[in-house]
Amino acid sequence: MSALASTSRNFRDAARLLNLDSKIQKSLLMPHKEIKFECTIRKDDETLVSYVGFRVQHDNSRGPMKGGIRYHPMVDHEEVNALAQLMTWKTAVVNVPYGGAKGGIGCSPKDLSMSELERLTRVFTYKIHDAIGVNVDVPAPDMGTNAQTMAWISDEYSKFHGYSPNIVTGKPIEIGGSLGREAATGRGVVFATEALLNEHGKSIKDSTFVVQGFGNVGSWVARLIHERGGKIIAVSDITGALKNTNGIDIPALLEHKERNGSLSSFDGGDKINADELLIHECDVLVPCASSGVLTRENAGDVKAKFIIEGANNPTDPEADDILLKKGVVILPDIYANAGGVTVSHFELVQNSQHIMWDEEYVNAQLKKYMSGAFNSIKSMCRTHECNLRMGAFTLGVGRVAKCTVLRGWGS
Ligand code: NAD
Repeated sequence: MSALASTSRNFRDAARLLNLDSKIQKSLLMPHKEIKFECTIRKDDETLVSYVGFRVQHDNSRGPMKGGIRYHPMVDHEEVNALAQLMTWKTAVVNVPYGGAKGGIGCSPKDLSMSELERLTRVFTYKIHDAIGVNVDVPAPDMGTNAQTMAWISDEYSKFHGYSPNIVTGKPIEIGGSLGREAATGRGVVFATEALLNEHGKSIKDSTFVVQGFGNVGSWVARLIHERGGKIIAVSDITGALKNTNGIDIPALLEHKERNGSLSSFDGGDKINADELLIHECDVLVPCASSGVLTRENAGDVKAKFIIEGANNPTDPEADDILLKKGVVILPDIYANAGGVTVSHFELVQNSQHIMWDEEYVNAQLKKYMSGAFNSIKSMCRTHECNLRMGAFTLGVGRVAKCTVLRGWGS
């Protein structure tokens, strides 16, 4: 099932539980604005290359729209649409004052030099600068982009609109980024995991983990779980997967990745097949790579008792049904990976006040938001007698619907 079909199905199920009027449902599903454009750059060897860029602004009833920018070969119109919609529910679940958006370029960033990436980012920004703005739409990093990408966007945007570092979040500390932002999504995933395990009378220290993806989110998840005494028994990235039932030495793996750029050739574990990773015996599986990795083909073989969705949309609805029937407890993406947008909110608060919070304060506030959202989701689960995904969707969709009606768009 496509990412958009899967997200929209979850929305409709939540709308049914909330008894939402069909006109409100239609208005909430329809994107506010979609932009698709050509991004052509000159490569270092002087040849021209063209890519397709997207920005989808899904909903702004709760505030300026917010969402990452992804550089990945699989970026297409449908996926960006689905991810923009997820951002609308996610910002509402953690109750930060934003709507949802997403953007990206269908390219392979690892095949581009730094100067090519900079030129591509500047062309992308030039094409959308009139459609974004601090009160309209504020981009952030996602797969294949990082703080440096945000610095280029901010610089290019500032050429047209005056100095505007707060046009993006996830930017470098030196130009107004927040301490703790780089780790925030992973840290939020770990706070969410703690809340869930705690509820089931378990702890990170007594559990085994499998982490798919070792980029920004996955590597921080692995590092923070390791620091809390959890045992990571298998990890993967795009170059391969490895396992070690005694627990992988995560600090050594991070050092290896820093030196070599990937996990491949790390000798602290045995190589396994990438597909095997997702069905490896463990207490907690944390997908932190791409979408649609848990499908009806592999869900029946998953052995984890808990799944924490660090990635966006990693579980197809058919897989969801199979896993729920097996008794697997799934903490959904629109809550589990909301730590990034939560600290992006803190970044904008600091920018508007021209102050900088210390990292301990950022992390403590993040914990407060993640715990608060967990309790609100549980309360929705009790009200609607539903699972955690529907608890999160009814919470997010309900809050957005309420604002839509209050602002008078629902009549
Ligand atoms: P990233 O580009 O930093 O890292 C992605 C990682 O996934 C890399 O290690 C890559 O090698 C690996 N990967 C890609 N395809 C894979 C595959 N088929 N099998 C195994 N590994 C694979 O991206 P990121 O920022 O860490 O984002 C990861 C996921 O988290 C995405 O779904 C993204 O939308 C979501 N997310 C990210 C943020 C954020 O703040 N960066 C916030 C919320 C959600």
